[in-house]
Amino acid sequence: MEKKENDKHIKRMADLLLKGATLTDLACPVCGSPLFRLKDKTLWCAKDEKKVVIVKDGEETSKPAGTSGLETLEATLLAKVQDVQGKIQRTENVDELKKLTSALSELLDSLEKVKRMKKG
Ligand SMILES: [Zn+2]
Repeated sequence: MEKKENDKHIKRMADLLLKGATLTDLACPVCGSPLFRLKDKTLWCAKDEKKVVIVKDGEETSKPAGTSGLETLEATLLAKVQDVQGKIQRTENVDELKKLTSALSELLDSLEKVKRMKKG
């Protein structure tokens, strides 16, 4: 139920990456889910399935010291997602592709959890 619903949007996130969208370090202001930049530069929330416009309010640049552990974790996960995304684009092996897409889903799931923790 809630788990299924969650799986569905994680899959949508993975699909976006496979289609060439870029994972950004931004979070959706509504649900806290990681945002994607589509090829036409639109910021997209895969959970809400809609376009997102981020209004910069300075929050991005002045990070509270207390969140630095999460920041590091988030940056690590983001780098891993990009790494796996690159491998998926290069592989032609079906078994490897399955493993990579499953790893990608787990990374996206973790990343979303981190973003929610940061949001509080
Ligand atoms: Zn959202």
